[in-house]
Amino acid sequence: MRTDITKQELQNILKEAYETFRNDTGGKNADYIPYLSRIDRKLFGIAACLPNGEILSVGDCDYPFGVESVSKVMTAILILKQYGAETIMHMIGADATGMPFNSIMAILLEKNHPSTPLVNAGAISAVSMVQPVGNSAQKWQAITENIKELCGSETELIKELYRSESVSNHNNRAIAWLLKSYNRIYDDPELSLDLYTRQCSLSVTAKQLAVCAATIANGGLNPVTGKRVFNSSLSPKIVSMMAAVGFYENTGDWMFSTGLPAKSGVGGGIMGVMPGTLGIAAFAPPLDGAGNSVKAQKALRYITDRMETNIYSSQRVKIRECAATVNAS
Ligand code: GLU
Repeated sequence: MRTDITKQELQNILKEAYETFRNDTGGKNADYIPYLSRIDRKLFGIAACLPNGEILSVGDCDYPFGVESVSKVMTAILILKQYGAETIMHMIGADATGMPFNSIMAILLEKNHPSTPLVNAGAISAVSMVQPVGNSAQKWQAITENIKELCGSETELIKELYRSESVSNHNNRAIAWLLKSYNRIYDDPELSLDLYTRQCSLSVTAKQLAVCAATIANGGLNPVTGKRVFNSSLSPKIVSMMAAVGFYENTGDWMFSTGLPAKSGVGGGIMGVMPGTLGIAAFAPPLDGAGNSVKAQKALRYITDRMETNIYSSQRVKIRECAATVNAS
């Protein structure tokens, strides 16, 4: 098990991962959202953000793609900030469902508990909690401001994706109303569904996701902007949620084989957090059956293997020349 690595070595590892998997043809773009089915399936990028804010990248790391479910992590952070961890445990929970991201069965089985903000039910419930409750415009402002602070730069709404998802999100509408019948949605269901759909339709680049991941890895201090986005006590909470359910029903297999807490989105992005070490992201549109990017998974697995980093290990890998500035709030 190694305990440190140079920047140059890390850059080489990213490049090797890129070269190894760039021609992989596995998976297919999400097609239940028409916009996503039309994205160039060859796009592929990998980015890492170091504790000093430096970004290493290879491939299509400036291409703006739909953040989709990775936004669930961001809004979970927002409500953790607004309400505190105990209230989130009580009102939503932090359990893995072991079921697909949009499972209605999971809600039926746990009527009093949307399980976790990182599946659709819990994420719609999380959006419903965003303050100020009842005010769509101000809630949207809070959601986007939080995402901007985490990513270190502005994110834009992909209008075509928002339209595409809004006309095809019948399953999510059913989830929102089912939550209503169990008193597990805390604002108007249609307003909450709309804001959830909109947040999923924001664009991010692999670089922005790497910065967001690095902010979580760095205990809430954004290493690029130098701004504290959340209190360091929330970091383990959010990392534990990612480790529990970041890849939906495949999360156990993922954590067993990589030890990297990560969150995927059907836009093809995956954001991984190596606490105290760095933030990493990969993007490639074709997905496996559970909705996780095939190439991004392969790349991140390759990188964690080569870095010999694993959240469950007793050792932490440090990037030489890049000691984190401040890590406590
Ligand atoms: N907006 C997507 C949905 O609700 C997100 C799913 C995902 O990225 O896993 O279906």
